[in-house]
Amino acid sequence: MAENFQAPRGFHDIIGGELRKFRRVTSTVRELLRKYNYEEIITPVVEYAKVFERSIGEATDIVQKEMFVFSDRKGRRLALRPEGTAGVVRAYIQNKLYALRPYHKLFYEGPMFRYERPQAGRYRQFHQIGVEVFGVAEPHADAELLKLADEILKALNVQATMEINSLGCRVCRPAYREALVEYLHGVAGHLCDVCVDRKDRNPLRVLDCKVETCQEAVKEAPKMVDYLCDECREHYTKLKDYLKELGVNFRENHNLVRGLDYYTRTVFEAVSDELGVAVIAGGRYDYLVEEFGGPPTPALGFALGVERLMLLVEEPQRNYDLYFVIPFGEVHAYALKVADILRSKGKVVELSYRKGGLKKQLELANKLSADYAVIIGEDELKEGVVSLKDMRTGEQRKVKVEEI
Ligand code: ATP
Ligand code: MG
Repeated sequence: MAENFQAPRGFHDIIGGELRKFRRVTSTVRELLRKYNYEEIITPVVEYAKVFERSIGEATDIVQKEMFVFSDRKGRRLALRPEGTAGVVRAYIQNKLYALRPYHKLFYEGPMFRYERPQAGRYRQFHQIGVEVFGVAEPHADAELLKLADEILKALNVQATMEINSLGCRVCRPAYREALVEYLHGVAGHLCDVCVDRKDRNPLRVLDCKVETCQEAVKEAPKMVDYLCDECREHYTKLKDYLKELGVNFRENHNLVRGLDYYTRTVFEAVSDELGVAVIAGGRYDYLVEEFGGPPTPALGFALGVERLMLLVEEPQRNYDLYFVIPFGEVHAYALKVADILRSKGKVVELSYRKGGLKKQLELANKLSADYAVIIGEDELKEGVVSLKDMRTGEQRKVKVEEI
């Protein structure tokens, strides 16, 4: 096929068994979100590039390397959304949702776009479901959010380790940042090129660099948890207490920082035991609404990668019988009627459009994994019955449609 007629690199079609996995993930998550009474929001796939640059942070990988930015015909700088939170925050403020209720619990589902090197479970268009809670500062909201993430993993039967950390706040982070930068200067000789560059602009990010020498170099680095102010410490301690109370297993990872600038206090990642990468990730972002020009509003949320979870779930089995109606000869009106009656009785029915003899028809019935073939010829028409063939046993008998 000519290159121009293939999907662009990193973009993929989702069909067949993959789509069934996709739906299994999304419907399981939606069912849980319903139990927690989250309300859905749909925001545009395109925003002004500024929306992401300001929130995610100018010095982050997403903004510097991964965003699809383009100009429209009037020269406005737009971007395909690389993540969901920025758009939801923008919508929360633009629609003045804060004026309606003391707090909000929203979720979104949809495609995200990042210009990354494609590999297993990593695409340039991928799908996330994310949740955002606006207007709650207390750690019981963090605990309930992590509980929800934990429930999602359990419902999908995915083994993952919940890693948590605290990144502090405006009060305590600056002193920590300073100590970290100083430390990083001391070990600069052991850092990768990217981290040498990052150590002043985005020092926290060095902590979760995947390069081995960097990981080795930051082992003795100062930890944010040792610098937390009293309020942040209390928040973090309470969160851990609540999680223990709820039976949510977690592991503290003091180098967990996340790739986006807007996080404060709680950050977490559910890391797949099998893949070693995050499948759900999020945290608190208490200043973001304010930085967008909204009223000061503490907030928190997470996003899960649908394609990542698809790598870890089983394809769901069909939980209903399929009836394959096969007309022979000029019996189409009757066959249409039979299909109609079966469907009105709640059956799932495929009316065969295939031409040809019984052998070919049954081949197709098998290909579709039909449970029953409903065979209709001139005789059946005359007698007002159908021949019902059980595809598993091969047993066949004439019955009235109403008796199926
Ligand atoms: P990673 O470290 O794997 O690049 P990230 O920190 O960039 O992930 P987030 O921005 O936290 O990812 O997005 C939340 C989730 O979305 C991730 O945990 C992952 O499951 C999924 N995700 C992120 N980027 C991609 C991608 N390019 N393709 C598929 N899924 C992705
Ligand atoms: Mg990434």
